[in-house]
Amino acid sequence: MYITVLGPQGSGKSTQAKLLSEFLKVPYFSTGSRIREIASNPNNPLYAFVNETSSKGELVSNVVINKILNLAIEDSLKVTSNKGLVIDGTPRRLNQMEDIDEILKLHNQKLDLAIFVDVSIEECKKRIASRVEIEKRVDDAPEAVTKRLEIYFKETFPIIEEYKRRGILLKVDGERTIEEIAEDIKQQVSKKFGL
Ligand code: AMP
Repeated sequence: MYITVLGPQGSGKSTQAKLLSEFLKVPYFSTGSRIREIASNPNNPLYAFVNETSSKGELVSNVVINKILNLAIEDSLKVTSNKGLVIDGTPRRLNQMEDIDEILKLHNQKLDLAIFVDVSIEECKKRIASRVEIEKRVDDAPEAVTKRLEIYFKETFPIIEEYKRRGILLKVDGERTIEEIAEDIKQQVSKKFGL
């Protein structure tokens, strides 16, 4: 089962994606975490491609995302138990959605579900602002946050519309407790796939 979890920064989508991967007993794959690992290891063959862009907070090229996603999908098919992946971090652009389809097709797989953790831009800003107090991350400055969120909503909207059109979108209300959202996702996924 191949599932991607979408949501803006501050939506808690990574937490939900990890909980879902535990529930389904399929691996969790985060493009952002993998990019950070590559950027911290000069011996990695992709180091030169990611180091400059990701350290500035910019998106890395689709070529890199495709390579790491392809490897993660290959690994997910080597296991004898549940084959699948809960993907966190991509697609972020319309053309990445097409790339995911193509990569999965190469392995005779398809995207089964796209979960959108729906949180308003205002709520995301509030959550990030309270995190700033604790973590003091420079890229969490209010102007940078607003800009990132606006870009996110603009770029993700057509992706969500397309998944809705295909009938594989599951939109969940992200303005509840972690437990409530996780339970909702579990129930809806179980119902959809007859688990
Ligand atoms: P994240 O932890 O998801 O915010 O990702 C951290 C960094 O990894 C981003 O700032 C990008 O540089 C890179 N990254 C992660 N996912 C993608 C993606 N789908 N497309 C392009 N760059 C990405």
